Amino acid sequence: MENILENIAVIKKRIAAACQRANRNPEEVKLLLATKTVTPERIKVALKAGNTLIAENKVQELKEKYEALKDTPHTNHFIGHLQTNKIKEILRYEVSCVESVDRLDLAQKLHTRLAAEGREMDIFIQVNTSGEESKFGAHPDEVLTLVQQVAQLPTLHIKGLMTIGLFSAETEKVRVCFQLLKRLQQDIFALQLPNVAPHELSMGMSNDLETAIEEGATIVRVGTAIFGQRIYPDSYYWCESQGQCSH
Ligand SMILES: *Cc1c(COP(=O)(O)O)cnc(C)c1O
Repeated sequence: MENILENIAVIKKRIAAACQRANRNPEEVKLLLATKTVTPERIKVALKAGNTLIAENKVQELKEKYEALKDTPHTNHFIGHLQTNKIKEILRYEVSCVESVDRLDLAQKLHTRLAAEGREMDIFIQVNTSGEESKFGAHPDEVLTLVQQVAQLPTLHIKGLMTIGLFSAETEKVRVCFQLLKRLQQDIFALQLPNVAPHELSMGMSNDLETAIEEGATIVRVGTAIFGQRIYPDSYYWCESQGQCSH
């Protein structure tokens, strides 16, 4: 359990060092804890120490941990592939931002449900910047159109973009993904749409957060480097069908 706080301290040092190299203020970069497969007891260790931004990938896990976490202050984002039949649950379990909106159909159904409940929600648009078929996210060429369509839905506030960088030990190839997300952010700002202010760039994980920070990340999503290795492979969370996935 103490490990968790030590690991968080190490991550915060990495964030601070990357910010210094990039001439950025470390306060511009938020640490989000990716808590898939982590038990509520272990999540609470992090929350009680003031690390209150967390995110799940699966509605099922959100549901299972809800009771155990609800009295410990925190903010829930959702970072997994969201099926439209799970929208009601996402709203029930107090997710404040869905970072993984990647298609119009999902945005429309989310809007319909929010409107019915008289609520609004912050969302990010997830972009597939790596070109890997196994990852979710809108195709970069479709992002501007998607943003313009989602902007018509008054309950949804586009606050940022999210991506998972290429899995590669070659930093420069990973960097290209993050640069693409940044460029799309600038293109969206240039559209000057009302109700659209994608200031947040959610990019960078345990292995590539430095590169992401150098390219403008405002949220880094860290799991493994804080909570340790997971038993399930990431393909379990990131792929439509297990068979198609290579990693
Ligand atoms: C698991 C996960 C992370 C964190 O990845 P680590 O490599 O464990 O730090 C970040 N983003 C998403 C979407 C994830 O599913």
